[in-house]
Amino acid sequence: MVQSPNLLPTAELQARDAAHHMHPFTHGAELGKKGARIITSADGCWLTDSDGNRILDAMAGLWCVNIGYGRQELVDAAARQMQELPFYNTFFQTTHVPVIELAERLAQLAPGDLNHVFFASSGSEANDTNLRMVRTYWEMKGQPSKKAIISRWNAYHGSSVGSGSLGGMKGMHAQGGMPIPDIHHIDQPNWWSEGGDMTPEEFGIERAQQLEAKIKELGADNVAAFIAEPVQGAGGVIVPPDSYWPEIQRICDKYDILLIADEVICGFGRTGNWFGSQTMNIKPHIMTIAKGLSSGYLPIGGSIVCDEVAEVIGSGEFNHGYTYSGHPVACAVALENLRLLEEEQIIDTVRTETAPYLKEKFESLTDHPMVGEAKIVGMMGSIALTPDKATRAAFASEAGTVGYICRERCFSNNLIMRHVGDRMIISPPLVISKGEIDTLIERALLSLDEAMAEVE
Ligand code: PLP
Repeated sequence: MVQSPNLLPTAELQARDAAHHMHPFTHGAELGKKGARIITSADGCWLTDSDGNRILDAMAGLWCVNIGYGRQELVDAAARQMQELPFYNTFFQTTHVPVIELAERLAQLAPGDLNHVFFASSGSEANDTNLRMVRTYWEMKGQPSKKAIISRWNAYHGSSVGSGSLGGMKGMHAQGGMPIPDIHHIDQPNWWSEGGDMTPEEFGIERAQQLEAKIKELGADNVAAFIAEPVQGAGGVIVPPDSYWPEIQRICDKYDILLIADEVICGFGRTGNWFGSQTMNIKPHIMTIAKGLSSGYLPIGGSIVCDEVAEVIGSGEFNHGYTYSGHPVACAVALENLRLLEEEQIIDTVRTETAPYLKEKFESLTDHPMVGEAKIVGMMGSIALTPDKATRAAFASEAGTVGYICRERCFSNNLIMRHVGDRMIISPPLVISKGEIDTLIERALLSLDEAMAEVE
């Protein structure tokens, strides 16, 4: 009988993990010292680790398990599809039923004339597709000089060379030769940290107008697209001031710049609507999707593309694709996930019941002496930690030190929250109940108290 690895002692598993497993975004030395947390099973919003702890996952894995853990329907959908057709590709004029149905369903769900889907296995791959697609679009339209893509500092669009270049994470750019040429970055609409004396609304306009200034600097004839998340996620859940997006939309329209909304986090109910573009009232030409599309049960991503761009791209051959573009099992699982989200009215419940409840509780965290602002849209939120709310001051310690302490306190209180610098962020499964929201807030407060005692 094969012994389940979960029955092995935690320390032994950690040692084997540290010996052979190279982790993403993890300091190697830390792994050797402390060992990785080993998650063994999950159900609903709860994880179980190898020591038997039950942990409230306020990050839905990596912002992806929208439907919650342990849905047998998704397991069954995968098993059925594996038996019928575990793989076939979608290259060279070939297709299969799950990809036909998923593309059709996404076209129904997506706003406006976003009616066409190019599949990938991740958000990074999908943004690589977008990078090539927008440039190819302009080439096919006879405007090959429109190559530059404008993005934002502190945006996250993935980890491949293309998507990592589109992203604005300086720590990532410092390693491995990024960004590639013709990607430009403007500042993010983070009023708390960068707004100075401006009101949030003035600041939103000022930051949006950096796009106009960048387009003028580069020349509109050289700019292909602007890419942004409706609400910046991995950058720290930066909710833009209300003035920001209308101004961005005006500028993209005025200069004939394609707008790519990266919905990898915001999509599939995270903001209380199917897409963050609906919540923020944006009209993108392309939306990047992944994560919540399958609730993370299998890797799948893609680009939902408007009629005009799809028609131009379809007028020739787009020399691009991935072996797993439209993988039948991933498509079947995504379809089942979308069916459940809709039939169980999970997104409606978020918008009308649980998100308003979470907002009220989450915003009350600003009563804590170390919490400055609390920002939340639907089921994604962040709090800014500060030593002085009135001046919105940063801590004297290196940025992220206090956030890290707070995150560790959360871990030890069996709550998964992440820190980005000195912001603490949440993105729980959409199925989180009001009782579980109460638990989340209680544990967050306890962790904040403990972190404050450690900092003082
Ligand atoms: N875009 C956004 C907004 C993301 O948050 C992420 C991942 O967190 C990605 C793209 C990259 O997706 P993936 O990790 O599936 O490649």
